[in-house]
Amino acid sequence: MEGNLPIVEYFHSIQGEGAHAGRSAFFIRLASCKVGCPWCDTKESWSTNNHKKESIASLCKYITRAENEGAAFVVITGGEPLHHNLNSLCNNIREKNSTKAMSIHLETSGVDPLTGNPDWITLSPKRHAPPLKELLHACHELKVVIHTKEDLIFAEKMANIALQNNQNNPILFLQAGWNSRTGQNLTYDYVKRNPQWRLSMQTHKWLGIR
Ligand code: SF4
Repeated sequence: MEGNLPIVEYFHSIQGEGAHAGRSAFFIRLASCKVGCPWCDTKESWSTNNHKKESIASLCKYITRAENEGAAFVVITGGEPLHHNLNSLCNNIREKNSTKAMSIHLETSGVDPLTGNPDWITLSPKRHAPPLKELLHACHELKVVIHTKEDLIFAEKMANIALQNNQNNPILFLQAGWNSRTGQNLTYDYVKRNPQWRLSMQTHKWLGIR
């Protein structure tokens, strides 16, 4: 096993949002993000400074423990996890998991090429840093955060591309920006009038869990 990755945190919790909301999951939050969203709620993950590096062997041990304690899948998040090459991490997770019961989920903004061949890709594209088409064509769910009307136009543009040449038929989510009353009103009205979209709730925040 080779490689070390800068880690902000890892923890076993409940997935709070998206198609797998409500399921037990083990989260690995990788450090580093250059996307720079003003509303980001994990700004501590932007820099790799002050975050310890963990070996892939150690991460696999934590995953095994979480799996024994009920986690159904691993979520690789960030930061922007695809700033790192995920091949080694994902290959090692698969090797340690001989039953293949523990699938690998990735949460990404899509600005970097895909690595690691995850089983489930949540693509959250950003208007100021649009994603690569290869991610739009590979994702399983598309989640766009809404603060303004322009974000809704961007969401439709992303959905049009994502629904072309994507065999996964991605689920479309709109998520209001946290603490954005305008975003909440726009999202609520839009999802009501456009049934191809679903409302994504950050239930972990409402519940006060990680
Ligand atoms: S891509 Fe994610 S981690 Fe990076 S700045 Fe935006 S919200 Fe924060």
